[in-house]
Amino acid sequence: MENSRKFAIDIGGTLAKVAYLDQDEPASDLDFRTSYGTIHLAVFQSRDIDQTIGFLKNLGFNSKELPVTGGGAYKFSSELERELHTTVIKVDEIQSLNAGFSEVLKEVPEPAYTFSIERGKQSVVPRPLPSLLCNIGSGVSIIKLEEERISRVTGTCLGGGTCLGLATAILGIESYEELLELCQHGNANNTDLLMSDIYGSGYPDTLAVSLGKIAMKDTNEFQRADIAKSLLNMVGYNIGQIAYLATKLEKTDHVYFAGNFIRGYEYTMDRINYSVEYWSQGKTTALFLKHDGYFGALGALLKVLNQ
Ligand code: ADP
Repeated sequence: MENSRKFAIDIGGTLAKVAYLDQDEPASDLDFRTSYGTIHLAVFQSRDIDQTIGFLKNLGFNSKELPVTGGGAYKFSSELERELHTTVIKVDEIQSLNAGFSEVLKEVPEPAYTFSIERGKQSVVPRPLPSLLCNIGSGVSIIKLEEERISRVTGTCLGGGTCLGLATAILGIESYEELLELCQHGNANNTDLLMSDIYGSGYPDTLAVSLGKIAMKDTNEFQRADIAKSLLNMVGYNIGQIAYLATKLEKTDHVYFAGNFIRGYEYTMDRINYSVEYWSQGKTTALFLKHDGYFGALGALLKVLNQ
């Protein structure tokens, strides 16, 4: 007999996200109830696909079909089919992202919020469409959501993978968590070139060039934590700016951010919010979401649940 649990996976360039549904009670902060039952979420490294497969096997996976979205739906299709004795159903990435996003807005209490370290987390009522959704994964996709249409309006290859890649190359860090931990002790003003460095004292300490002090070669004594913070800021600011420009092009006054680069990390959200606020002079709102890294997996799961 088929296991009553239903599963779906979103296998991206860095992380494999699993969403599954059963009738158990929610047991962690990642679980939430929907009209179908309880949704559970889990994340693994995409490169360790055996771990994801093992996780599904341990939960008694024996479905005839497995919806998979993301590049891994192609790359790992035969491995998943062979190991799990199933047929992989490839689900479109953008459609999944949108379906997962809509489900979270519909089913999760207080799903959307604004965030800055200064003002804290403030729950907000989701804004009416059209909206932009800026998904920051390994790379970045900015999607426009309208009543009748979903389209990828732009993106950038400078994303979460770039931040992690540079940190690995320059600082030898071994995990994303290590990078975030390192950032906590850093001061980017020691590595970034500021207006006051260029114009002289009396001018503001506004950022002019990310990591610019290193290029000045006045000293070689740079702290790893300062470099880490400059890197994270650089990527966050750049994405915030591109997202803001997309809101101008698409005529919206808000943009939702999702993807595991954010993953509810306060410092990351604070810097993205700062960037959007700075470039829009406070006119564009950056919104963050619960379960922000799992929309693709959730959307793919809905595909089977709605069948
Ligand atoms: P993708 O679908 O492209 O894998 P994700 O939305 O899963 O994208 O986000 C991947 C990004 O999330 C990484 O590039 C990194 O910046 C960040 N990240 C968060 N947690 C981790 C982790 N545990 N391991 C690696 N990267 C992580």
